[in-house]
Amino acid sequence: MIRLHNTKTRRKEAFVPLDPANVRMYLCGPTVYDRAHLGNARPVVVFDVLYRLLRHVYGADHVTYVRNFTDVDDKINATALARQQAGAPGSLEELIRERTEETIGWYHADMDALGALRPSVEPRATDYIAQMIAMIEGLIAGGHAYAKDGHVLFRVRSYKAYGALSGRSVDDMIAGARVEVAPFKEDPMDFVLWKPSDDELPGWDSPWGRGRPGWHIECSAMSYELLGASFDIHAGGIDLQFPHHENEIAQSCCAHPEGGFAQVWLHNEMLQVEGKKMSKSLGNFFTVRDLLDQGIPGEVIRFVFLQTHYGKPMDWTAEKAQVARNHLRRWWELLGPVEYHSVSKNVPSEVLNPVSNDLDTPGALAALFQLEKAGRFEEFASGAKFLGLLNSNEKRAEILSSKSLSDALNSKIEGIVRIWIEHRRNKNWEVADSLKTAMREIGIELVALKDNRSDWKHVDPDELDDSRQSSLEASLDELLRRFR
Ligand code: AMP
Ligand code: ZN
Repeated sequence: MIRLHNTKTRRKEAFVPLDPANVRMYLCGPTVYDRAHLGNARPVVVFDVLYRLLRHVYGADHVTYVRNFTDVDDKINATALARQQAGAPGSLEELIRERTEETIGWYHADMDALGALRPSVEPRATDYIAQMIAMIEGLIAGGHAYAKDGHVLFRVRSYKAYGALSGRSVDDMIAGARVEVAPFKEDPMDFVLWKPSDDELPGWDSPWGRGRPGWHIECSAMSYELLGASFDIHAGGIDLQFPHHENEIAQSCCAHPEGGFAQVWLHNEMLQVEGKKMSKSLGNFFTVRDLLDQGIPGEVIRFVFLQTHYGKPMDWTAEKAQVARNHLRRWWELLGPVEYHSVSKNVPSEVLNPVSNDLDTPGALAALFQLEKAGRFEEFASGAKFLGLLNSNEKRAEILSSKSLSDALNSKIEGIVRIWIEHRRNKNWEVADSLKTAMREIGIELVALKDNRSDWKHVDPDELDDSRQSSLEASLDELLRRFR
């Protein structure tokens, strides 16, 4: 039995699919204007585990997983326009297509590196404009939307249950949210379904003039088209719960009152940097590609994600990556290349049960350690593969060849980090700062996290050859003596 924490009811519930012969899930996908940052990868990995679980329980041919590409966006337009102005050949539409193709290619490469299976369908918003227009027409006809000055707006007060997902009333939301007041709105809460495009923007002909869709209607139209008016699971990051998911529910339920839209809502918590959500707009981000380029294998990133339950916020730290890499190296050395793996036919219940219990991946990893310790290697291999680990020789080569700090070096750095924390805790700022400077000089950056925790990163792992390792060890010994 699968149990999932449904955001809609705020309870962990037994999962009962509408149709076990076709279990349907939708995940809000990326806006393809640039490389995905590490936070964007978290829902992909978390819900990849869910997809694998559903395929295991209901059969691979009985699960439909839709994850969209949002390829209508002002930042995409801006890049295309800048390229055109810099002399790139082609129409604006062609340059936009070029930019989104490029970004989707990067996205696939990066998410493949994390061992995420490709969804069954990856619709692009721009291929569903006609369906969006039809849905908007239906909403107008039903009194749930109105057109004004080339815009179409959703009439939020026409949907009584608005706010139920996030548990807020419309009035609370007006008080708390940055709602935009505009002359074409009846009510400041109303949100855009369609907006006009000028000549420098991509546009489609519509009953309301040349324009483009709002973001929320994209997901409603694509999920209806590909999964129907009622489907099983809708997932995404918790940052999308309001307004994006509230708006999706309002649109879909008003356009298709015969359906129930999504039965179960799942939300992953955020990947954070120093207590704040990693995001492009805060500028506190690094991309998946940055990590891969630093020599951190995608399998390590996946392992680190699995170590935290999806419902909890998490940090990325170099220390976690180091620990994960050591486990993976040991496992790959234990099992050898995939053609030699001997794998039990059934996923062991020790691994399957926690995953079925609201995707408790830390519990599943703990079970893998137990199976390893007990010498139950066939079950261990089966459990690891079920979690999307130890599946390909390409990943094995990445783990075995990835540059790593020796255990000795690692423990010396941890020693320094502890001394640094101690000095900071005692407010010996000068000593702490000169230690930080001395570490930077040998290529290691100390980073303060909240709650007196800390982290470090190696500035250039490519230079870590043997002679560099031993000279680093000597410098660290000296610093340990000086600052203890
Ligand atoms: P976006 O392209 O910003 O719409 O985000 C794509 C997906 O990444 C959405 O499901 C977001 O909820 C998710 N997301 C964005 N930032 C983070 C983060 N810091 N941690 C976890 N998920 C995130
Ligand atoms: Zn969405």
